[in-house]
Amino acid sequence: MEIKDCNFHCPHCSDLLSSNGHIVLSTKRHNGEEGHIRLATTFGNYSYSHEPDTEFTPGEVVSFLCPACKNHVHSDKYKDYAMIKMHVSDSIIFDVLFSREAGKRKTYIVTEDGIESYSER
Ligand SMILES: [Zn+2]
Repeated sequence: MEIKDCNFHCPHCSDLLSSNGHIVLSTKRHNGEEGHIRLATTFGNYSYSHEPDTEFTPGEVVSFLCPACKNHVHSDKYKDYAMIKMHVSDSIIFDVLFSREAGKRKTYIVTEDGIESYSER
């Protein structure tokens, strides 16, 4: 499965969150600081860039918001995970979960066959 070719969408407003191999989300920290994060869409690649430049504290749980509708894109089931929609094709849509905890490099893709796990390689 070529994940980098998939499009990622907001679970609320369905706005496209990915472009040019990156997912862009708004962030909010406990101290009220807001910004934007760019995540690589290649799973196992946990490089990201953040505007403004921010050093997240290891273990800090960051809030992720859709830049379009400003809703949290958090999983109802797994509170410390963000959840967005991965469109593989028009009829195949998977949930992608990734950890909201800074430094915790865990991503899951929920497919009809079950859950695939991705960690740092
Ligand atoms: Zn949205």
